[in-house]
Amino acid sequence: GGRINMAEVVLKKVEKQYPNGFKAVHGIDLNIKDGEFMVFVGPSGCAKSTTLRMVAGLEEITGGEIYIGEKLVNDLPPKDRGIAMVFQNYALYPHMTVYDNMAFGLKMAKVPKNEIDKRVKEAAEKLEITDLLDRKPKEMSGGQRQRVAVGRAIVRKPEVFLFDEPLSNLDAKLRVSMRVRITQLHKQLKEEGQNATMIYVTHDQVEAMTMGDRICVLNYGKIMQVDTPLNLYNTP
Ligand code: ADP
Ligand code: ADP
Repeated sequence: GGRINMAEVVLKKVEKQYPNGFKAVHGIDLNIKDGEFMVFVGPSGCAKSTTLRMVAGLEEITGGEIYIGEKLVNDLPPKDRGIAMVFQNYALYPHMTVYDNMAFGLKMAKVPKNEIDKRVKEAAEKLEITDLLDRKPKEMSGGQRQRVAVGRAIVRKPEVFLFDEPLSNLDAKLRVSMRVRITQLHKQLKEEGQNATMIYVTHDQVEAMTMGDRICVLNYGKIMQVDTPLNLYNTP
């Protein structure tokens, strides 16, 4: 498959000062390559989520620049950034079925119905949730809901996937299987030529180590290290 739509994500001297005056991010410089799986790891409060949310357009950038696919996105709303985000709490619409949850963003974007149907069913198959399409979120387990949340991101064919602690609410066994599932999905989408640059936030070092092509270690709103898992954890 050819490479369609892949986007590098570039952060230049990115800063975040919250309205209360607290400075959470202190000049982050980072290049995330086309198709790369980048993990942000670090202790609670180190600004993983703030940084991710600035890439998503959910938090204002108060200094520096963020580029997605060579386009400066500082002033773009989330819907114009070519991103799809998966949240820790799933953020599904409770009154809608799984099908409609996955279809909703595409309907808003005026994607034709037959194309929506095709994408939803393809994504459902990938995530093994075809049997659940008529259910509502409250009729499913946490792991099932999280698969739906990932499915909802896939159908939009975004240039960049953003994951904010997506597995933190799952039990240990499910976390391991979802880890594998998301890593395989990254490979599979790439093979299919669909865009698969992923940024994944976690406080879990094992998750970081097993999932990332590279890992960006944050502390107190600064980058401590950026490297492959092998180089980060196996150096003498
Ligand atoms: P992480 O995702 O690594 O746990 P966050 O990005 O959520 O960290 O938070 C980084 C820092 O910014 C923390 O010290 C947090 O208390 C602070 N923070 C987060 N949101 C706000 C806010 N709306 N106003 C002020 N400070 C905030
Ligand atoms: P709307 O209410 O917005 O008109 P519909 O519920 O009529 O949307 O669904 C439109 C199409 O989506 C249907 O023709 C069907 O192909 C598909 N669809 C909807 N729900 C499901 C489902 N649970 N499983 C499979 N396909 C579905």
